[in-house]
Amino acid sequence: MGFRDVKRSKSAKDTRIIAIINQKGGVGKSTTAVNLAAALGEQGRKTLIVDFDPQGNSTSGFGIEKEDLDQCIYDALLNDVPAESLVLDTNCKKVFVIPATIQLAGAEIELVSAIARETRLKDLLEPIQDEFDFIFIDCPPSLTINALTAADSVLIPIQCEYYALEGVTKLLESMKMVKSRLNKGLDTYGVLMTMYDSRTSLSNQVVEEVQSYFGDKAFKTLIPRTVKISEAPSFGEPVITYAPQNKGAKAYMNLAKEVIKRA
Ligand code: ADP
Ligand code: MG
Repeated sequence: MGFRDVKRSKSAKDTRIIAIINQKGGVGKSTTAVNLAAALGEQGRKTLIVDFDPQGNSTSGFGIEKEDLDQCIYDALLNDVPAESLVLDTNCKKVFVIPATIQLAGAEIELVSAIARETRLKDLLEPIQDEFDFIFIDCPPSLTINALTAADSVLIPIQCEYYALEGVTKLLESMKMVKSRLNKGLDTYGVLMTMYDSRTSLSNQVVEEVQSYFGDKAFKTLIPRTVKISEAPSFGEPVITYAPQNKGAKAYMNLAKEVIKRA
């Protein structure tokens, strides 16, 4: 079944395009992309993930074999292949993916010489975006101007670990720059605390710090650190379907509710 045959939610208003971004690696960007999308799909919201990281973790997170793909987001960015033909269905209800493969690694460099490079991703999403309630861009661990230009807001995952807020100021500065030159409406959709462990004072300290820094922008839902979340990708499934009773799965379901409320 093609993605155009699956209907959007009737109650939703506009499509929200959200970049999941933090230039630090390993903070839970891809895990959040995959599981939040799956949770929104379960709650009737038609969702697209644009895998924008050459590592392709949100592609493989749905059990899509990267080796078998002959096209990825790279072909849309540089070879003018329409995004329409790149959208893949997943094993999750109402969830679709534009995959990434290692080919994407050279794209930023090649884009430097391409025309209208900062708006490349934005332009290619335009013809398909109305089909979806939510579009998430799973960013690589860098400050991706293309993603910040294509998105109407950002979701910033922050790992409950030492130096949690390190680099966040830099991210906010980049957002300001993009806002003034390329994307006036760019906003912070929310800040998500990941890999939370209620038993450690460090985790609780990070929560306090993030809440006082971001106020209402911080999501109430905290994503706990669980083994099921980390092992689900090796089964090619989000934890939402792999272990729906796991407290990590429940947290992502709650996060989806908060995300819908803010839409
Ligand atoms: P990023 O995309 O920011 O680099 P990932 O989502 O790939 O980060 O997460 C980094 C690692 O941490 C992965 O191995 C992932 O399975 C694991 N991980 C992420 N969130 C959790 C969690 N809540 N509990 C346990 N492990 C997690
Ligand atoms: Mg990632």
